[in-house]
This record gives sequence, C-alpha cells and structure tokens, in this order.
Amino acid sequence: MTKQELQKALEPIAQGLFGKQGIRRYERPHFPLRSLETMLKDLTEIPQEEWFAYVFSREPLNGKFQDDQRRRWMEQSIACGREYGRRICQEYSLSTPSELAKAMGMKVTYPTYPEKTDRVLFAEFREPDDIRIYMDGVKKAKKFLERPEISSILGKLEVSELLLAHELFHYVEEKYKKEIYTRREKIRLWSLGPLHNDSTIIALSEIAAMAFARELVKLPYAPYVMDVFLVYGYSPEEASGLYEEMMEFAGRTPCAPEERKDVE
Ligand SMILES: [Zn+2]
Repeated sequence: MTKQELQKALEPIAQGLFGKQGIRRYERPHFPLRSLETMLKDLTEIPQEEWFAYVFSREPLNGKFQDDQRRRWMEQSIACGREYGRRICQEYSLSTPSELAKAMGMKVTYPTYPEKTDRVLFAEFREPDDIRIYMDGVKKAKKFLERPEISSILGKLEVSELLLAHELFHYVEEKYKKEIYTRREKIRLWSLGPLHNDSTIIALSEIAAMAFARELVKLPYAPYVMDVFLVYGYSPEEASGLYEEMMEFAGRTPCAPEERKDVE
C-alpha cells in the first residue's frame, strides 16, 4: 500500500478503526473542523460504559438489538476484557503488551503501511500468531504527543503498545474460545424445527479488546478516543466528523466548530 492509497482508504472512515466490524455509513459531505485538543478533551471525559451506542453502531447485527441489551453486553464485555487482561499478566508475570506478546510466542512486526487497502488500517491480527502494527499512523500520533497541550490530555501514551494490546486480545480470545464470554454469548439468527443458526456478536470482541488494552496499558480513559486521534493525522475533517458522531452517540453536545484558520 502506498501513501496515496492509504489516504484514499481513510476517506470513508467511521468504521471503528481497531475492528474488523463495520457497516458502511452513507457519505456525509463535509464536516466542520475542530481542534484536536478540544476533541480529545471532550472524548476523554466520556466514561467507558457510555460508548456502547457508538460501538454498536459499527456492529452488523445492530438493528436486532435494544439499548438495554446493548448496555448489558457493553458491561459484560468490558468485564471480560479486564478479567483476561489481569489473568494474562498474572500468568506470565509480565505487564507490557510487547513483553506479553513475545512470551506468548506472537510474531509482531511493525511495517509502515498495510499491504492492501482495507478497513483495518492501524493494526491487525492474523491467525494464528501474526500481529502487525502499522507505523505510519503511530508516527503521526507520536508527533502530536510532542505538543504539551495534547500530552497533557492523553498522558503518557505508547500508541503502538496500545494497538498491540488490542490485537493481542484477539489472539487470547481465539486461545480461550471455548470458555471466553465474547465467544460464548450468541444470538439466534433463525430457527426452523431442529435447525438453527447462532451467531457471535463482533462488537463484543471489540469492546473486550479495548477493555483488555486499557487494562494492560493502564489508560485513564476509554481507548475509543484513539479513533479520532489516529484519523486526525490523515484527515482532520474525517476526525471531526467522527468526533461529532461519538459525542452524539454518547448523548453529549459536540463543541462548536473552529474558525478554519485556527485548525492546524
Ligand atoms: Zn479488534
């Protein structure tokens, strides 16, 4: 993948960048710009549990669910991610994602760009043991973190470690697939006499992966903020649109757009 292709792939953002989940949103024409600082400040204030509407908006089966159900799944998936985070750290007596990945025998590589244009842009897990962290996005994020006004909001943050932790959960999930909540919880799509078709819910895996990552890197806010942060390096306008959506899903009012000249 070249830089231009990556740029193009980022145009229809909004799919929840960490995940493989996603339905295509209709193309909204233009988003008013906001400063990164203001957006991050607002988003880091949203408690983890309140992200459920945003997370499920990326779930292909979302139309079948009600809010109380979404909320319950959110809580249970967060608990699952946390539990496995603690469990894995204990089991290996290690705490950083890169140490854990190594101890678990994962092959972690850090290419600059993904090979092909896909929705998974910043990191991905490929079965059985391959994790890729794409460094172009990470480097852009690092640059922003050099600004005191950004680092004072996001704190000490190793973006590549956070991405790695998220992907590591997908490996853990596969390893414990017989018992782990995110794989055991299913919904019945249809039944006909003795026949039925049950499906796992992708959003649950993504919620748990975020909670797992948060547990490992000790993040004081919900990692969904990273969607806006990472996208901003490529498209401040898309990041602003995503921010707007996130705020609305969390029942909050997005801040007023800035004058164009104020936005870097
Ligand atoms: Zn994921």
